[in-house]
Amino acid sequence: MKYTPLDGASKESNRVVGVGGHRGNERTVGTIDLTHPRIGEAIVAEVRTERVVEQMPGHPDDLVISSIFDSNSEHWGPGGSGVATSLAGMARPRTPKGRARRVHELLALEYPEAICELDHETPFQLLIATILSAQATDVGVNKVTPGLFARFPDAESLAEADLDEVEQLISSLGLFRNKAKNIVSCAQQLLDRHDGEVPGPMKDLVALAGVGRKTANVVRSVALGLPGLPVDTHVLRLSRLLGLTDETDPVKVETALNPMVPAAERGEFSLRMILHGRRVCIARRPLCGECSLASFCPSVR
Ligand code: SF4
Repeated sequence: MKYTPLDGASKESNRVVGVGGHRGNERTVGTIDLTHPRIGEAIVAEVRTERVVEQMPGHPDDLVISSIFDSNSEHWGPGGSGVATSLAGMARPRTPKGRARRVHELLALEYPEAICELDHETPFQLLIATILSAQATDVGVNKVTPGLFARFPDAESLAEADLDEVEQLISSLGLFRNKAKNIVSCAQQLLDRHDGEVPGPMKDLVALAGVGRKTANVVRSVALGLPGLPVDTHVLRLSRLLGLTDETDPVKVETALNPMVPAAERGEFSLRMILHGRRVCIARRPLCGECSLASFCPSVR
C-alpha cells in the first residue's frame, strides 16, 4: 500500500502524515519516513485507523474525525477536527501487546504477501519440506523437493521408499541421513495412524517422526488454515528485541505471543517477522535506519 502525504499535514523530524487505504468511512493513516528511498511505499513509522464523519467540500484533507482506533487499548477513542493528523496523536505503544499489534500492522503493510517460501502443493509435501528445512535454507530445500516429490508424491509412496534412494535425493542437505530416516518414518506413521492424511491437532502432529512444534505450526497455519505461530530463530530474536517477551525458549515465546495476535493471523505474523528478520533486522547488523518499527522498538540503535 502506498501512503500519500496529506496537504497541510505538519512535518516533524523528516516525517509526515499520509493516507493509505479507505474502507467505508474509515481510513488508514500512517507516518511516512521522508528519508527513506521508497517514500510512501509502506515505509511508515506509525499507523492508526480513523473514522471520518465529515469532509469539507473542496478540501479533501479537512475532516471531522469522530474516533481514532487505539492499538494499545484496542478501543476507539475520541477524534478531532481539521487536518486530523499530527504525529503527536500517534501514541507509542507501551505494552508488549500494543507493540505486537503495531508490529503486525506495520509488517502487514511492508510485506503484504506473507507467503511460505518452501515450495509445496499439498499439506503432505509442506510437512516433508518443513522437516527437511531444519538447519537448511528454504532455497536449499526447494532444490531437492522437486526430485523427491516427483518420485514420492504422497505418504503411500514415501512409506515404501528405499532409504538409500531417499538419502541420495536429499544428500545436498545437512543431516540428510537422519532426515531421510525421519521422513520415511513420518510417511509410515501417517499411513498407520491417519490414513495417509496430515492431521490437524497439535498432539498428533508432534507425535510424528521429525516433527516439533515449529514444523507443526507451519503445517497448521500454512497448509491447513488452522491457528499456528511458528517460532524460529528470527521470530524468537525479533520478539525479544521488540520487547514482546523476555523468554528464550521457543515454546514459551509461542505461549507468550499467542494471546497478543488474533488466532487467524498468527501464521502471517510469524511469516512477516521472519521476512523482517531476514531483510531488515538482520542478526549481526540490524538496519535500524531503514526499519519501519524503529519509532517504538526498545532495541533501536
Ligand atoms: S529498530 Fe533495529 S533492532 Fe528494532 S526491529 Fe528494527 S532493525 Fe531490529
